[in-house]
Amino acid sequence: MSNCLFCDIVDGKIKAKLVYQDEAVVAFTDIAPKAPVHVLIIPRKHIVSVLDIDANDGAVIGQIFHVAGRLARELGIAESGFRVVVNSGADAGQSVLHLHYHLLGGRQMTWPPG
Ligand code: AMP
Repeated sequence: MSNCLFCDIVDGKIKAKLVYQDEAVVAFTDIAPKAPVHVLIIPRKHIVSVLDIDANDGAVIGQIFHVAGRLARELGIAESGFRVVVNSGADAGQSVLHLHYHLLGGRQMTWPPG
């Protein structure tokens, strides 16, 4: 997809600190971290938001959650706790229109989120 920041990261056109990649999923550290651990996990496939996930995307969405758990363990937040967040649309503050899962941890979270 042209004009997509995260597609450019997937394609290696824009550098990011990759922490995981496979044939379906890429994960990299957030450029403006909101917690001591803040990783973005994205599908290689360009999906705009939760609204655009279709029934055929089940495998990649499952893999994203599998990778979230794996990275939570590797990055030392599995025991203390962590959050997986997907912002969708303007009110939620989605700023990049390529589906991404925030993996956040390493500090006490508040609830409800702001
Ligand atoms: P959202 O606001 O949910 O759309 O999240 C987008 C996230 O992408 C924000 O947390 C940004 O800090 C992050 N971000 C934007 N540009 C980059 C980049 N070049 N590399 C890594 N993370 C980025």
